[in-house]
Amino acid sequence: MVKKTIEKLKPYIPEKTIAEMKKEQGLTKLVRLSANENAWGTSPKVAQAIMDWGVKDANRYPDSEVTSLRQAIANGLNVDPEALVFGDGLDEIIQLLSRTLLSPGDEVILTQPTFSEYALHAKIEGAKMVDVPVDVSGTTDLSGILAAITPATEMVWLCNPNNPTGTYVTHQAIAAFMAKVPSSVTVIVDEAYIDFVTAEKQTSVVDLLPKYDNLVVLRTFSKVYGLANFRVGFAVVAPQLAKILQTVRLPYNLSTFAEIAADAAYSDQQFVRRVVKTVADERQKWMDFFKTHALLSYPSQTNFVFFKVDQAAELSQKLLQNGYLVRTGLGHDWLRITVGQPADNQAVQKLISEFIKK
Ligand SMILES: *Cc1c(COP(=O)(O)O)cnc(C)c1O
Repeated sequence: MVKKTIEKLKPYIPEKTIAEMKKEQGLTKLVRLSANENAWGTSPKVAQAIMDWGVKDANRYPDSEVTSLRQAIANGLNVDPEALVFGDGLDEIIQLLSRTLLSPGDEVILTQPTFSEYALHAKIEGAKMVDVPVDVSGTTDLSGILAAITPATEMVWLCNPNNPTGTYVTHQAIAAFMAKVPSSVTVIVDEAYIDFVTAEKQTSVVDLLPKYDNLVVLRTFSKVYGLANFRVGFAVVAPQLAKILQTVRLPYNLSTFAEIAADAAYSDQQFVRRVVKTVADERQKWMDFFKTHALLSYPSQTNFVFFKVDQAAELSQKLLQNGYLVRTGLGHDWLRITVGQPADNQAVQKLISEFIKK
Protein backbone atom coordinates (compact mmCIF):
# COMPACT_ATOMS: atom_id res chain seq x y z
CA MET A 1 0.00 0.00 0.00
CA VAL A 2 1.20 3.49 -0.83
CA LYS A 3 2.19 5.50 2.26
CA LYS A 4 -0.57 7.79 3.50
CA THR A 5 1.70 10.84 3.21
CA ILE A 6 2.36 10.14 -0.46
CA GLU A 7 -1.13 9.28 -1.73
CA LYS A 8 -2.25 12.84 -2.35
CA LEU A 9 1.09 14.47 -3.19
CA LYS A 10 1.36 16.68 -6.22
CA PRO A 11 4.52 15.84 -8.15
CA TYR A 12 7.31 18.34 -8.79
CA ILE A 13 6.84 19.27 -12.43
CA PRO A 14 10.22 19.10 -14.12
CA GLU A 15 11.11 21.05 -17.24
CA LYS A 16 10.16 19.45 -20.54
CA THR A 17 13.11 19.07 -22.88
CA ILE A 18 13.71 22.04 -25.15
CA ALA A 19 13.28 19.75 -28.19
CA GLU A 20 9.88 18.60 -26.90
CA MET A 21 8.73 22.18 -26.25
CA LYS A 22 9.84 23.34 -29.69
CA LYS A 23 7.92 20.56 -31.37
CA GLU A 24 4.83 21.22 -29.25
CA GLN A 25 4.88 24.94 -30.05
CA GLY A 26 6.07 24.64 -33.67
CA LEU A 27 9.10 26.84 -32.90
CA THR A 28 12.51 26.82 -34.53
CA LYS A 29 14.13 28.66 -31.63
CA LEU A 30 13.35 28.39 -27.95
CA VAL A 31 15.30 30.04 -25.13
CA ARG A 32 14.57 28.52 -21.74
CA LEU A 33 14.42 31.25 -19.11
CA SER A 34 12.36 29.22 -16.66
CA ALA A 35 14.89 27.08 -14.79
CA ASN A 36 17.59 29.57 -13.70
CA GLU A 37 20.18 27.75 -15.76
CA ASN A 38 23.43 29.47 -16.69
CA ALA A 39 22.90 31.35 -19.97
CA TRP A 40 26.70 31.42 -20.47
CA GLY A 41 27.05 27.66 -20.53
CA THR A 42 29.92 26.31 -18.56
CA SER A 43 33.67 26.77 -18.28
CA PRO A 44 35.59 25.43 -21.31
CA LYS A 45 37.73 23.58 -18.76
CA VAL A 46 34.81 21.22 -18.18
CA ALA A 47 34.66 20.02 -21.79
CA GLN A 48 38.43 19.56 -21.80
CA ALA A 49 38.45 17.54 -18.58
CA ILE A 50 35.61 15.31 -19.76
CA MET A 51 37.28 14.69 -23.14
CA ASP A 52 40.59 13.92 -21.46
CA TRP A 53 38.81 11.39 -19.27
CA GLY A 54 36.82 9.82 -22.11
CA VAL A 55 35.02 6.72 -20.90
CA LYS A 56 37.88 5.50 -18.75
CA ASP A 57 36.73 3.22 -15.93
CA ALA A 58 33.13 3.38 -17.12
CA ASN A 59 32.85 -0.24 -15.95
CA ARG A 60 34.04 0.67 -12.44
CA TYR A 61 32.01 2.12 -9.60
CA PRO A 62 32.90 5.74 -8.90
CA ASP A 63 34.78 6.99 -5.82
CA SER A 64 32.15 6.93 -3.08
CA GLU A 65 34.14 9.51 -1.10
CA VAL A 66 34.43 11.98 -4.01
CA THR A 67 37.98 12.55 -2.77
CA SER A 68 39.34 14.95 -5.35
CA LEU A 69 36.35 17.32 -5.42
CA ARG A 70 36.01 17.06 -1.63
CA GLN A 71 39.58 18.27 -1.16
CA ALA A 72 39.18 21.11 -3.68
CA ILE A 73 36.01 22.42 -2.03
CA ALA A 74 37.35 21.98 1.51
CA ASN A 75 40.33 24.13 0.50
CA GLY A 76 38.15 26.67 -1.29
CA LEU A 77 35.70 27.10 1.59
CA ASN A 78 38.24 26.56 4.34
CA VAL A 79 36.24 23.75 5.94
CA ASP A 80 37.09 20.24 7.15
CA PRO A 81 36.81 17.78 4.21
CA GLU A 82 34.77 15.54 6.54
CA ALA A 83 32.15 18.27 6.84
CA LEU A 84 31.11 17.82 3.20
CA VAL A 85 28.30 15.54 2.03
CA PHE A 86 27.79 15.27 -1.72
CA GLY A 87 24.54 14.65 -3.54
CA ASP A 88 23.15 13.94 -6.97
CA GLY A 89 22.32 17.63 -7.19
CA LEU A 90 21.04 19.56 -4.20
CA ASP A 91 17.74 17.85 -4.88
CA GLU A 92 19.15 14.70 -3.37
CA ILE A 93 20.57 16.55 -0.38
CA ILE A 94 17.15 18.11 0.32
CA GLN A 95 15.64 14.63 0.23
CA LEU A 96 18.46 13.19 2.35
CA LEU A 97 18.15 15.81 5.09
CA SER A 98 14.38 15.39 5.20
CA ARG A 99 14.62 11.61 5.27
CA THR A 100 17.25 11.69 8.00
CA LEU A 101 15.84 14.34 10.31
CA LEU A 102 12.06 14.37 9.93
CA SER A 103 9.56 12.16 11.70
CA PRO A 104 5.76 12.31 11.33
CA GLY A 105 4.34 15.30 13.21
CA ASP A 106 7.60 17.28 13.29
CA GLU A 107 7.21 20.91 12.31
CA VAL A 108 9.16 22.38 9.43
CA ILE A 109 9.26 26.17 9.05
CA LEU A 110 9.34 27.53 5.53
CA THR A 111 9.30 30.93 3.91
CA GLN A 112 6.31 31.55 1.67
CA PRO A 113 7.05 31.56 -1.23
CA THR A 114 10.22 29.52 -1.47
CA PHE A 115 11.70 26.55 -3.34
CA SER A 116 8.96 23.91 -3.54
CA GLU A 117 11.12 20.84 -2.91
CA TYR A 118 11.54 21.55 0.79
CA ALA A 119 7.81 21.11 1.35
CA LEU A 120 7.54 18.13 -1.00
CA HIS A 121 10.06 16.09 1.02
CA ALA A 122 8.74 17.29 4.36
CA LYS A 123 5.28 16.07 3.32
CA ILE A 124 6.61 12.67 2.26
CA GLU A 125 8.05 12.28 5.78
CA GLY A 126 4.69 13.22 7.31
CA ALA A 127 5.99 16.47 8.79
CA LYS A 128 3.81 19.50 9.36
CA MET A 129 4.50 22.66 7.36
CA VAL A 130 4.52 26.07 9.02
CA ASP A 131 4.62 28.89 6.47
CA VAL A 132 6.04 32.32 7.24
CA PRO A 133 5.33 34.85 4.46
CA VAL A 134 8.09 37.07 3.08
CA ASP A 135 7.95 40.72 4.16
CA VAL A 136 6.79 43.57 1.88
CA SER A 137 10.15 43.66 0.12
CA GLY A 138 9.96 39.94 -0.69
CA THR A 139 12.58 39.12 1.94
CA THR A 140 12.65 36.15 4.32
CA ASP A 141 11.14 37.24 7.64
CA LEU A 142 13.65 36.00 10.22
CA SER A 143 11.81 37.40 13.23
CA GLY A 144 8.58 35.85 11.95
CA ILE A 145 10.38 32.51 11.73
CA LEU A 146 11.75 32.86 15.26
CA ALA A 147 8.25 33.55 16.51
CA ALA A 148 6.96 30.43 14.72
CA ILE A 149 9.39 28.07 16.48
CA THR A 150 7.68 25.69 18.94
CA PRO A 151 8.90 22.64 20.87
CA ALA A 152 7.77 20.56 17.85
CA THR A 153 9.99 22.44 15.37
CA GLU A 154 12.64 20.16 13.87
CA MET A 155 13.83 22.14 10.89
CA VAL A 156 13.94 25.62 9.39
CA TRP A 157 14.62 26.18 5.68
CA LEU A 158 16.28 29.46 4.73
CA CYS A 159 16.77 29.85 1.00
CA ASN A 160 19.35 32.62 0.73
CA PRO A 161 19.00 34.36 -1.66
CA ASN A 162 15.41 33.18 -1.84
CA ASN A 163 13.96 31.43 -4.87
CA PRO A 164 11.63 32.77 -6.32
CA THR A 165 11.74 36.26 -4.77
CA GLY A 166 15.46 36.82 -5.50
CA THR A 167 16.04 38.74 -2.26
CA TYR A 168 18.63 37.95 0.41
CA VAL A 169 19.20 38.35 4.12
CA THR A 170 22.58 39.50 5.42
CA HIS A 171 25.24 37.45 7.16
CA GLN A 172 24.74 39.61 10.22
CA ALA A 173 21.00 38.91 10.28
CA ILE A 174 21.50 35.14 10.05
CA ALA A 175 24.21 35.25 12.73
CA ALA A 176 21.83 37.08 15.08
CA PHE A 177 19.07 34.61 14.14
CA MET A 178 21.25 31.57 14.90
CA ALA A 179 22.09 32.97 18.32
CA LYS A 180 18.36 32.84 19.18
CA VAL A 181 17.38 29.51 17.61
CA PRO A 182 17.28 26.55 20.04
CA SER A 183 20.11 24.10 19.32
CA SER A 184 17.55 21.30 18.83
CA VAL A 185 16.31 22.98 15.64
CA THR A 186 18.30 22.36 12.44
CA VAL A 187 18.62 25.48 10.31
CA ILE A 188 19.34 24.73 6.66
CA VAL A 189 20.61 27.64 4.59
CA ASP A 190 20.28 26.84 0.88
CA GLU A 191 22.95 28.96 -0.81
CA ALA A 192 22.21 27.78 -4.38
CA TYR A 193 22.43 31.41 -5.61
CA ILE A 194 24.94 32.84 -3.12
CA ASP A 195 27.64 33.52 -5.74
CA PHE A 196 25.32 35.93 -7.54
CA VAL A 197 25.09 38.32 -4.56
CA THR A 198 27.00 41.49 -5.36
CA ALA A 199 25.34 43.88 -2.88
CA GLU A 200 27.58 42.64 -0.11
CA LYS A 201 31.06 41.19 0.20
CA GLN A 202 30.18 38.27 2.41
CA THR A 203 26.73 36.77 2.58
CA SER A 204 27.51 33.07 2.94
CA VAL A 205 27.28 31.71 6.47
CA VAL A 206 29.76 28.87 5.94
CA ASP A 207 32.03 30.58 8.48
CA LEU A 208 29.36 30.18 11.19
CA LEU A 209 29.46 26.38 10.97
CA PRO A 210 32.13 25.82 13.66
CA LYS A 211 29.95 27.80 16.06
CA TYR A 212 26.65 26.02 15.42
CA ASP A 213 26.25 22.24 15.15
CA ASN A 214 22.62 22.79 14.13
CA LEU A 215 23.54 24.80 11.02
CA VAL A 216 23.66 23.25 7.55
CA VAL A 217 24.78 25.12 4.42
CA LEU A 218 23.91 23.90 0.92
CA ARG A 219 25.63 24.66 -2.40
CA THR A 220 25.13 23.48 -5.97
CA PHE A 221 27.05 23.34 -9.23
CA SER A 222 23.84 23.77 -11.23
CA LYS A 223 23.58 27.54 -11.27
CA VAL A 224 26.68 29.76 -11.40
CA TYR A 225 28.91 26.88 -12.52
CA GLY A 226 26.46 25.93 -15.27
CA LEU A 227 26.54 22.19 -14.59
CA ALA A 228 22.83 21.44 -14.07
CA ASN A 229 23.04 18.39 -16.31
CA PHE A 230 25.83 16.80 -14.23
CA ARG A 231 23.90 16.86 -10.94
CA VAL A 232 26.35 17.93 -8.25
CA GLY A 233 25.40 19.57 -4.98
CA PHE A 234 26.70 19.37 -1.44
CA ALA A 235 25.99 20.13 2.18
CA VAL A 236 28.44 21.54 4.70
CA VAL A 237 27.48 20.20 8.12
CA ALA A 238 28.80 19.42 11.59
CA PRO A 239 30.93 16.23 11.62
CA GLN A 240 28.40 14.21 13.70
CA LEU A 241 25.59 14.92 11.24
CA ALA A 242 27.93 14.30 8.28
CA LYS A 243 28.55 10.76 9.55
CA ILE A 244 24.84 10.06 9.82
CA LEU A 245 24.07 11.50 6.38
CA GLN A 246 26.88 9.40 4.86
CA THR A 247 25.15 6.32 6.27
CA VAL A 248 21.76 7.21 4.86
CA ARG A 249 22.81 8.38 1.38
CA LEU A 250 23.24 6.07 -1.61
CA PRO A 251 26.86 4.90 -1.76
CA TYR A 252 27.60 5.81 -5.40
CA ASN A 253 25.43 8.87 -5.87
CA LEU A 254 28.02 10.84 -7.88
CA SER A 255 29.46 9.48 -11.10
CA THR A 256 33.13 10.06 -11.88
CA PHE A 257 31.97 12.17 -14.84
CA ALA A 258 30.06 14.45 -12.49
CA GLU A 259 33.04 14.72 -10.15
CA ILE A 260 35.47 15.51 -12.96
CA ALA A 261 33.14 18.14 -14.41
CA ALA A 262 32.61 19.81 -11.04
CA ASP A 263 36.33 19.71 -10.26
CA ALA A 264 37.16 21.43 -13.55
CA ALA A 265 34.37 23.98 -13.10
CA TYR A 266 35.50 24.76 -9.56
CA SER A 267 39.06 25.37 -10.75
CA ASP A 268 37.85 28.10 -13.14
CA GLN A 269 36.84 30.90 -10.80
CA GLN A 270 37.53 33.38 -13.57
CA PHE A 271 34.53 31.97 -15.46
CA VAL A 272 32.44 32.36 -12.30
CA ARG A 273 33.49 35.98 -11.83
CA ARG A 274 32.66 36.79 -15.45
CA VAL A 275 29.21 35.22 -15.19
CA VAL A 276 28.50 36.98 -11.88
CA LYS A 277 29.50 40.37 -13.31
CA THR A 278 27.49 39.98 -16.52
CA VAL A 279 24.44 38.68 -14.66
CA ALA A 280 24.64 41.62 -12.22
CA ASP A 281 24.75 44.12 -15.12
CA GLU A 282 21.82 42.47 -16.92
CA ARG A 283 19.84 42.11 -13.70
CA GLN A 284 20.22 45.86 -13.10
CA LYS A 285 18.77 46.51 -16.56
CA TRP A 286 15.81 44.32 -15.60
CA MET A 287 15.33 46.29 -12.38
CA ASP A 288 15.44 49.55 -14.36
CA PHE A 289 12.94 48.11 -16.82
CA PHE A 290 10.47 47.24 -14.05
CA LYS A 291 10.86 50.71 -12.57
CA THR A 292 10.30 52.44 -15.90
CA HIS A 293 7.17 50.39 -16.56
CA ALA A 294 5.87 50.63 -12.98
CA LEU A 295 5.84 46.86 -12.56
CA LEU A 296 6.10 45.53 -9.02
CA SER A 297 9.26 43.46 -8.58
CA TYR A 298 11.64 42.50 -5.79
CA PRO A 299 15.29 43.58 -5.73
CA SER A 300 17.07 40.52 -7.10
CA GLN A 301 20.54 39.36 -6.08
CA THR A 302 20.31 36.20 -8.17
CA ASN A 303 20.30 35.16 -11.83
CA PHE A 304 16.53 35.58 -12.07
CA VAL A 305 13.93 38.29 -11.61
CA PHE A 306 10.44 38.02 -10.14
CA PHE A 307 7.69 40.50 -10.98
CA LYS A 308 3.97 41.05 -10.98
CA VAL A 309 2.02 41.83 -14.11
CA ASP A 310 -1.68 41.76 -14.99
CA GLN A 311 -2.63 38.70 -17.06
CA ALA A 312 0.69 37.02 -16.38
CA ALA A 313 -0.53 33.75 -17.90
CA GLU A 314 -1.34 35.45 -21.22
CA LEU A 315 1.98 37.24 -21.21
CA SER A 316 3.82 33.98 -20.65
CA GLN A 317 1.95 32.51 -23.63
CA LYS A 318 2.95 35.45 -25.81
CA LEU A 319 6.57 35.06 -24.72
CA LEU A 320 6.46 31.35 -25.48
CA GLN A 321 5.05 31.95 -28.96
CA ASN A 322 8.03 34.23 -29.49
CA GLY A 323 10.49 31.60 -28.35
CA TYR A 324 10.93 32.46 -24.65
CA LEU A 325 9.93 30.09 -21.89
CA VAL A 326 9.44 31.72 -18.47
CA ARG A 327 8.26 30.37 -15.10
CA THR A 328 4.62 30.74 -14.06
CA GLY A 329 2.69 29.31 -11.13
CA LEU A 330 4.81 30.73 -8.30
CA GLY A 331 2.34 33.45 -7.29
CA HIS A 332 -0.88 34.81 -8.79
CA ASP A 333 0.12 37.11 -11.69
CA TRP A 334 3.82 36.78 -10.85
CA LEU A 335 6.42 35.60 -13.35
CA ARG A 336 9.99 34.48 -12.77
CA ILE A 337 12.47 35.01 -15.59
CA THR A 338 16.05 33.81 -15.63
CA VAL A 339 18.58 36.49 -16.56
CA GLY A 340 19.62 35.48 -20.07
CA GLN A 341 22.06 36.70 -22.67
CA PRO A 342 21.77 40.49 -23.24
CA ALA A 343 20.02 40.17 -26.63
CA ASP A 344 17.43 37.78 -25.18
CA ASN A 345 16.75 40.01 -22.17
CA GLN A 346 16.21 42.95 -24.50
CA ALA A 347 13.89 40.93 -26.74
CA VAL A 348 11.83 39.75 -23.75
CA GLN A 349 11.63 43.28 -22.34
CA LYS A 350 10.40 44.55 -25.70
CA LEU A 351 7.70 41.86 -25.79
CA ILE A 352 6.61 42.75 -22.24
CA SER A 353 6.40 46.49 -23.05
CA GLU A 354 4.25 45.74 -26.08
CA PHE A 355 2.01 43.48 -24.01
CA ILE A 356 1.37 45.95 -21.21
CA LYS A 357 0.70 48.83 -23.65
CA LYS A 358 -1.96 47.03 -25.61
C1 LIG B 1 18.06 25.06 -8.45
C2 LIG B 1 17.90 24.96 -7.00
C3 LIG B 1 18.29 23.83 -6.30
C4 LIG B 1 18.55 22.52 -6.96
O1 LIG B 1 19.81 22.39 -7.39
P1 LIG B 1 20.33 21.03 -8.03
O2 LIG B 1 21.71 20.96 -7.47
O3 LIG B 1 20.29 21.23 -9.49
O4 LIG B 1 19.48 19.89 -7.59
C5 LIG B 1 18.26 23.86 -4.92
N1 LIG B 1 17.80 24.94 -4.26
C6 LIG B 1 17.37 26.02 -4.92
C7 LIG B 1 16.86 27.17 -4.15
C8 LIG B 1 17.38 26.06 -6.30
O5 LIG B 1 16.88 27.11 -6.95
